[in-house]
Amino acid sequence: MQNVIFQDKEVVKREELINTIKKCPFCNSMPKVQNTGYTWQIMCPNVNCCSVASMSARLEDAVTRWNRRVEA
Ligand SMILES: [Zn+2]
Repeated sequence: MQNVIFQDKEVVKREELINTIKKCPFCNSMPKVQNTGYTWQIMCPNVNCCSVASMSARLEDAVTRWNRRVEA
């Protein structure tokens, strides 16, 4: 039971993090979020865009990196 509650919190936290992801600074598309099993990847869905994917083992870090670049 406690394990289920913990998992729900994790899902809510992920959704909150995903909601803070900013649009691509180059083409203004909403980025895609993928979990490969080992890393989280945030990437622009536009194949013609020169934006580079943000990757990290932790979703928080991938989001931080992506958003930091948008602000820069
Ligand atoms: Zn883009």
